[in-house]
Amino acid sequence: TPLVGVLALQGDVVDHCRALEAVGARSRTVRRPEELTGLDGIVLPGGESTTIDKLSRRFGLRDPLVDALAAGLPAYGSCAGMIMLADELLDGLGDQQTFGGLDVTVRRNAFGRQVDSFETDLDVVGIEGPLHAVFIRAPWVERVGAGVEVLASAAGHPVAVRQGRLLATSFHPEATADTRVHALFVAGL
Ligand code: GLN
Repeated sequence: TPLVGVLALQGDVVDHCRALEAVGARSRTVRRPEELTGLDGIVLPGGESTTIDKLSRRFGLRDPLVDALAAGLPAYGSCAGMIMLADELLDGLGDQQTFGGLDVTVRRNAFGRQVDSFETDLDVVGIEGPLHAVFIRAPWVERVGAGVEVLASAAGHPVAVRQGRLLATSFHPEATADTRVHALFVAGL
């Protein structure tokens, strides 16, 4: 049974733990560097990426997590978590930084004020049938590196991508009862 961490600095942590356990993984909330030890993967939840960036430094978690990702720790990032995984960020606030690992450029709050938050059904590579996707002040992907596969798009931009053992979605599967994105991640561990 894979042990999957859920970064628990801010955001919808409990819903990710529940989804991971529903697809047969064990989950562990991660707030301290020691809690990264022994993980088979980690989920970076949505929330507010500027806050996650700041808190990760305050908790001494930033450097160990950046190192773990660079060393190949599999990760799934949702929304703000996608931002944190991106190598390059557009429309970040001030000197906001990401953890990196995923060879993409992400634009924060990309869908803009008119369609701030919305829901839509998506076709996702690797998932059978439509997936109901909840977008909340979501980023989109503006550039994908050569090793990055686009799994789904919305409004003409990638909103689900995979690069090896890194998976990221602009939307929030943990906000629905559908656990297929978590299953996709856990199946790759
Ligand atoms: N707009 C948020 C950010 O910049 C992300 C929103 C979310 O995770 N639902 O981090």
